[in-house]
Parts: sequence; structure tokens; C-alpha cells
Amino acid sequence: MKPIMKLHTTEQQQLEELYHSIKSTTQNFLGYPVSKDFDYSELMPFLQFPLNNLGDPFSESTYRVDSRAMEREVVNFFAGLFRAHENDIWGYVTNGGSEGNLYSLYVARELYPKGMVYFSEATHYSIQKNVTLLNINYVIVKSLPNGEMDYNDLKEAIGYNRHRPAIVVANIGTTMTEAKDNTKKIKGILEDMAIEKHYIHADAALAGGFAPFVTPRPQFDFEDGIDSISISGHKFIGSPMPSGVVIVKKDNRDRIARRIAYIGSSDATITGSRNGHTPLFLWYAIKKLGVEGFKKRTEHSLGVASYTENKLKNLGIEAWRNPNAITIVFPAPSTEIIDKWQLATENGQSHIICMPNVSYEQIDNFIADIEVEMCTI
Ligand SMILES: *Cc1c(COP(=O)(O)O)cnc(C)c1O
Repeated sequence: MKPIMKLHTTEQQQLEELYHSIKSTTQNFLGYPVSKDFDYSELMPFLQFPLNNLGDPFSESTYRVDSRAMEREVVNFFAGLFRAHENDIWGYVTNGGSEGNLYSLYVARELYPKGMVYFSEATHYSIQKNVTLLNINYVIVKSLPNGEMDYNDLKEAIGYNRHRPAIVVANIGTTMTEAKDNTKKIKGILEDMAIEKHYIHADAALAGGFAPFVTPRPQFDFEDGIDSISISGHKFIGSPMPSGVVIVKKDNRDRIARRIAYIGSSDATITGSRNGHTPLFLWYAIKKLGVEGFKKRTEHSLGVASYTENKLKNLGIEAWRNPNAITIVFPAPSTEIIDKWQLATENGQSHIICMPNVSYEQIDNFIADIEVEMCTI
């Protein structure tokens, strides 16, 4: 039976206002890593169902109004891109990059309860929050001017705590400058220092979506020594609601699953009920795009990034970007421009992130605004 639901005229108006306001704010949007060029209209009929991917996507459940079969495909697709060992893959579709970070650090802590977490000062705020939630000790390591981890400082910090297992968080694209920490180098440091008990997590929220398609390929994945990786689905790929994917080694997951066996099930994820729509959206995106589509998006973003960097430099602005980054960093412009283009700004530096939906034309319009401002000063 359908309940009788009708909005009052004022509420109807509210809805319409929200719709138009969202529609217009989404036009000029250069500062945040969110793709908007998606069309999931084919999936609209699924919004009629109470999908819920309760529990472990890799084990059966009695709740079957779900999309776990697709969720497994999504996990396996990214596990392949991140060169995970075929027989040692486990993961799930999360609510976003932050949840993937939390889950990975949870796995690391269960493996090494006395571990020390190391992450650089350029790290996303979710890591600090997660280590606090998990009550793990941590050391903040210095960053180099480009935002990459200062490996010498890491070495020194580990040296002070060499009796403890080391859990290192590597940034595969920092939030402000899209710097990528080299996980092969980190692994090498841990091995050279004979820290046998170690764990490397890759926070690849944005750059995980394109790093596999960049030449030279950044060193960031399972072949390069990581134990887990977290990416966001609403960033490079794009989805109407936040989403993400976390991948860990199955052996590690099995060890912690045993530890929590007293709950009487393999309650292997952070939340109980889980979004059943987001796996479907991500599945749809990867099927539609295919590896070729991902490559094209990557090339487009890199092209626009290089164009933007040059345009700014031609105006005499000290713009720069990390190797093969889609993020351009430059001294903060006026608050009017920051506002209009929604530029994330920190310590006097702003950035533009050339997401796949950012066009050359938008960059030209942005540059025109900057030019006008320079002339009037
Ligand atoms: C965006 C971001 C996150 C958080 O991801 P959400 O999907 O917003 O939870 C974590 N780390 C980095 C480096 C990010 O850029």
C-alpha cells in the first residue's frame, strides 16, 4: 500500500529552490576533486528497492535484496588495477575514502596491536581522526616542499621506535598538492632497518582512479609493497553519492575475522548495513568506461592540467604541479575568485584540480577572470 504523501506548496518550492541552487553551484567548480560528468539514469529504477549489502560481500547472506555480486566485481576490478595477488584479495565498497582508511588501519592494528603509525604532515585529516578512534600511537613525519613524505625523517622516526611494529600510511596524492609517496621506497626503508613487522597502507582517494594509467607508473600498489589501499568512488570516477573501495590482503582479513568470530558471523566491515546502490553505480561506471575509458579520462585530465599550468605561468603566476599530477598549485587569488570558482585554499596557496569534467573552456574562463583582476590592481 502506498502511503499518501503530498508536499505542501511551500515545501515543493523548497525542493525546487534546492534543485536550482545545486544546479548553479555545480557550474563553476574547479577546486574540489569531484567528477560530475556521469549519467546513471539507467539505474534509476533501482531506487525503488531497499538494497542493503549487509556484512561481507564475499560470503552468503540471508538478506538478498542486494548487489553483492556486482560489489565483488568492483573489488576485483580495482584489485587487478592495483596488482593485488590473485589469491589474496578481499575488500568492499565503502562510504568513501575515509572509511577505507579507517578499515585499513583497523586491520593493521588488529595485526599489530602494539604498532606505531607513521604518516606525513600533508596527510588527509581522516587519518588523524582514524588513529584517534582506534587508539593507536602515531608519529607525524615531515613533508618535503612538494608535499611528499620526507623519507629521512621517516627513517629517523622509525629508528626511535624500532622495537615496535611500523604501520606507514602513504599518500597517493595528498589533498593539497597531489604528492605521491613512493611505497617501494618506504618498503625498502622498512626492510633495510630490519623492521620485520610492518604494514603499508596507501591512501589513494583521488589518484587511485588514474595512477595505474600514468606513465611512468607511480610506485604505489601491491607489487610495490602495500598491504591495503583505499580510493574514493565519487572523486575520479564520479557518483551521485559518496562511495569508495577498500582492498586488503585476504590473509590479513581472515586473521582479524577469526578474532571477531565471537559475534557469531563474519561481520567484517565497519558498518552493519551497507549501501547496496553505490556498488551498483560503481559497477555501471567501470563497465561503461572500461580500461580504455579510464585511460581517456586520465589523458584528458593531464592535458587540461598542463594547459592550466602553462596559462597561469604565462601570466607570471608561480604555478606548479607534481609530476603527472592533475592538481595545479598557485598563490591564492582574490576571495572573489576563490568564491566564484570554489577553490580550496590553505596557507596562502590555492589549487585547481583538473577532474575529467573540467574543460579547456572552463579554464579559459577562469584565466580570463584572473586577467581582469590583474589589470585592475
Ligand atoms: C578526499 C580524500 C580522502 C577522504 O575521502 P572521502 O571519500 O571524502 O572520505 C582521504 N584522503 C585523501 C588524500 C583525500 O584526498
